[in-house]
Amino acid sequence: MGNYYMNGIQVTEEMLEKLKGQPNETADGQRINILCNIGSLDDVPSVLQNDAGGIGLFRSEFLYLNRTDYPTEDDQFEAYKKVLSDMDGKEVLIRTLDVGSDKKIGYFGLPEEENPALGNRALRACLNRPEIFRTQLRALFRASVFGKLGIMFPMVSSVFEVREAKEMCSDICRELEREGIPYSPDVKIGIMIETPAAAVMSDRLAKEVDFFSCGTNDLTQYTLACDRQNPDLERFFDPHHPAVLRLVKTACDNAHKNGIRIGICGEMGADPDLTGFFLAIGIDELSVSPREVLPLREKVRSVNVSLIREKVLSDLLQ
Ligand code: PEP
Ligand code: MG
Repeated sequence: MGNYYMNGIQVTEEMLEKLKGQPNETADGQRINILCNIGSLDDVPSVLQNDAGGIGLFRSEFLYLNRTDYPTEDDQFEAYKKVLSDMDGKEVLIRTLDVGSDKKIGYFGLPEEENPALGNRALRACLNRPEIFRTQLRALFRASVFGKLGIMFPMVSSVFEVREAKEMCSDICRELEREGIPYSPDVKIGIMIETPAAAVMSDRLAKEVDFFSCGTNDLTQYTLACDRQNPDLERFFDPHHPAVLRLVKTACDNAHKNGIRIGICGEMGADPDLTGFFLAIGIDELSVSPREVLPLREKVRSVNVSLIREKVLSDLLQ
């Protein structure tokens, strides 16, 4: 695993091994779920080895990359079925295709754009090309009977986008029913909070879905108007910026007021300097790379939320 430091102390393999099977519970008894972010089927064994609670972000782009034509519905069905079966009842949140911007796929033939990060990407590209979206959604619903599936939409900024996407899901379920193809009625539908608009409108959006997941890499980029890929802007790209953290808190409060759960799936989720903040505002789950699960569990177990809540909130939100 290489060197991993937590609160200045090197975390050894033995220390991590002992954490397997332990709850993600703070010193004062608050629990949080720790899940994994993955980008291919090859990552699934390490999710299980690291004792994660499930998969909080499965980036589905791997199915579309490194090929010359669209993956078929069956190609996708087999991949989703495999991850759901391998996870053996643990939840898997699969993000629908996040093409465009930094994730270019040649055969999509998307026109060159002056501002690709603000362009035809992610859910927008899917709603603009419904035949591609429908294929993915059909594959997902068909696979849903093999495990516990959540589907989440990236780069939402308006309520109408979520309604259109949900309408397509309902159409697909009706179609599968007519064809006598089984699907699970328990699939959860969620959205990523990646734009300031989504965070600000999270009171309305929460009424449309079962869960939120904050994509803080993009949320930071769009809140600070700062390209996440430009190395010259590194010192301006600050995920600890109070504007970003306030938006996360807004989304968290609105999720809970509406009885839905909220996770963090951007890089920030694994940042030990923010674990206290996420616990203090009541985030329900953190989704991180497999190797970060156990060090993060160790961090969670070292926090006493009631002792730090007020200080963390006043320090970080100002
Ligand atoms: C994010 O934006 O934080 C996120 C998890 O999605 P990606 O990094 O794939 O854009
Ligand atoms: Mg993103």
